[in-house]
Amino acid sequence: MKENLLGSTRPQAVTVDTARSPHVRLHSLPLDAVRLEDGLWEPGRRINCEVTLPSQYRHLEDTGRLDNFRRASGKTGGEYQGIYFNDSDVYKWLEAASWTLAEGSDPELERMVDAAITEIEDAQQPDGYLNTYFTFEKAAERWTNFDLHEMYCAGHLFQAAVAHFRATGSERLLDVATRFADHICDTFGPEEGKHQAVDGHEEVEMALVELYRVTGEKRYLEGARYFVDARGHGLLGRPYGQHDPSYSQDHKPLHDQSEVVGHAVRAMYLYSGAADVYAETGELALLEALGRLWKNMTTRRMYVSGGLGSRYEGEAFGKDFELPNERAYAETCAAIGSVMWNWRMLGLEGEARYADLIEHTLYNAVLPGVSLDGQNYFYQNPLADNGSHRRQPWFGCACCPPNVARLLASLPGYFYGVSASAVWVHLYAEGAATVELDGNRTLRLSQHTTYPWDGRVEIQVEGEGEFALMLRVPAWCEEGATVEVAGEPVDVEISPGSYTEIRRTWRSGDTINMNLPMPVRRVECNPYVTENAGRVALMRGPLLYCVEQADNHGVDLRDLILEDAEPAARYDPELLGGVTLLQAEARIAAAPDDGWEDRLYRNVHPLEGDTRTDAREITVVPYYTWATREPGAMRVWIKSG
Ligand SMILES: [Zn+2]
Repeated sequence: MKENLLGSTRPQAVTVDTARSPHVRLHSLPLDAVRLEDGLWEPGRRINCEVTLPSQYRHLEDTGRLDNFRRASGKTGGEYQGIYFNDSDVYKWLEAASWTLAEGSDPELERMVDAAITEIEDAQQPDGYLNTYFTFEKAAERWTNFDLHEMYCAGHLFQAAVAHFRATGSERLLDVATRFADHICDTFGPEEGKHQAVDGHEEVEMALVELYRVTGEKRYLEGARYFVDARGHGLLGRPYGQHDPSYSQDHKPLHDQSEVVGHAVRAMYLYSGAADVYAETGELALLEALGRLWKNMTTRRMYVSGGLGSRYEGEAFGKDFELPNERAYAETCAAIGSVMWNWRMLGLEGEARYADLIEHTLYNAVLPGVSLDGQNYFYQNPLADNGSHRRQPWFGCACCPPNVARLLASLPGYFYGVSASAVWVHLYAEGAATVELDGNRTLRLSQHTTYPWDGRVEIQVEGEGEFALMLRVPAWCEEGATVEVAGEPVDVEISPGSYTEIRRTWRSGDTINMNLPMPVRRVECNPYVTENAGRVALMRGPLLYCVEQADNHGVDLRDLILEDAEPAARYDPELLGGVTLLQAEARIAAAPDDGWEDRLYRNVHPLEGDTRTDAREITVVPYYTWATREPGAMRVWIKSG
C-alpha cells in the first residue's frame, strides 16, 4: 500500500473529504463504499462509464482540446483550438474518469486517463504555470485579464488531481496540481509584493481547499480564503466592459451579500468554496452570508425543477420571482453547482433541507441534462418548449457534459453521511453501503426499495452496538410517513423535512421499514411569478412531471386545463427506461374557437357558457425524460381549474 502525503495507508475516494475539517458535523463516505443497484441511477452510471466517458474522450480529441496540450508542449504545431477555457473540459473529464476508477479497474479507461495526464504533465511550464491558451504567442498575457478563466481552469485541474489521487493513489496529476498551486500562491495574495486579484469565474476556491485537505499544505487553504475574501473589492473591474461586477458576484464582499445574483454557475462555485473555507476556519460571517443567500435562492429565484438562472443574458439569476418557463436558462452546470453547494451545507449543518434540495435537484435539474443513452446533453433546461430544444452531442462551450459525468461518477458518495456514533441516510435507492463508524466499527446497511417509484424502503442493518440511524424524511412527504423497526413503530416524532433519529443497540439482521407515501401532488407557485398564475405542476415523490406532445397528440398543450380528479400513477417498464407515468383528466380550453383566432387583444365581455371540451385523459411523464422521443411541445406548468 502506498503512503499518502498525510501518512495514512491509502487515500479514500471521498468527493469532499471533511474527515479532519473542524467545523463540519457530517462526513462523507468513500464513493466505493456505496453500491447502487437500482433501476435508475445504476443504469445511468453504467452508461456514464461505458458510453459517456469514452464518447467524451473522443470529443476532447476531435475538437482539439487534447491537441492544445500537445501544442503547448511543442509536440504539435498549429493554432490553439476552441474557447480559451477548453482545458477545463479535459480536467473535468479526468475527474469523472478518476471517480469511476475508484470503483474498480477498467484498463481502457485507465489508458485514456494516463494518456491525458501525460499530455498535461508535458504541457506544464517550468514555473508551474499551466494553461494551454496562454502559451507561445499569448505567454506575455498571462494573469492580465481575469475574465479569461486561468484560475477557473486551474481549479478544475486541482479537483481532477485530488480525484485521481484519492481514487487511484497515484500522485502524477497531484504533482502537476501542487506545482501550479504553488505558483498561484506565490503570485497572488494579500502579502506585500504579491498581486491582488480574483478570477472572473469562481472555482479555484473550493479546489484549493480540497488540495489543502489532500496535502496538508496550509498555504492552499490561505489562498482559498484570500480569493473568497478579496472578491467584492473591485479587483476584477469590468474586463470587457460588458458585465456589471455582480456578474461575477464581485459587486460587494461575500460577507455582505444577501441576494443570489449574476452568473448562476459562478455563484454556486463561489458559495461552495466559501462553505469549504468555513469548514476549515469556522468564520461565522461566511456561514451567515451563505444562509441568507440560500434563503433568497430557494424562496425567490429557483425554478420548481431546482434549476437556476432565469436569463440568457449573463447566464444569470433574475430578480425575485423572475422565472420565465420557456426562456429559462437553468444551465445544467448551475444545478450541479447547487448539488455541490448543498452537499457542503449539509455537511456543515446536518439539516435535511439541504439533502431535500440535493435529491430534488439531482432528479429534476441534473438528470434532464443528459440523455438516457448518455451521449446528448442539455445546456439550458427550459420548463416549457415548442419542440425545438433538443439535447446535443457536444457544445463549443462544453462545460455541462463532463460536469454531468463527474457528478454521476461520484454520485454514490452523496447517499450517506457519518457523525459520531451516527449514520445518516440522505438518499434512497436499492443498494448497500459499508460504513466505518467511530473508527472502530464496520457496519453494513442495505436498502431494498423501488424508490423513486415507490416510497417503501426497507433497510437492513448488519453490525452490532449502539448508534443512531438518521433517516431523512423528505419535506415533500407531508403526510403519512412511517418508520418501523422490527415491525414496531419507532417511538420518535416523524416530521417531514427532518431526519428521524433512531438510536438504539442494534443487532445484525435488524430491519427498518420506512414508508413515504407518494400521492400525486399539485404544486402551485408563488403568485408573484405571474407566468404560473392559475397553473399547477405535478409531482410525485421527489419527481417533477411534465406533459409532452409525444403522449398527447392532437392537442395544444397550452390549452389543457387539469381537472380535480386524482391522477392515476402507473409504472411502465417499457417507457423511457422504466418510469411511473401519470394519467390525469384534463379538458381543453378551445381558445381559437372561442373567438381568439387572429386576435391578440379584445374587450372583456361576459362569458357565454363554457366552451371547454369534455374531459379527456392525458399522460404526464417525469420531467427528466423530456425530449427523448419525437420532437414536440412540453410544459411543466399546466392550467388548473
Ligand atoms: Zn455548463
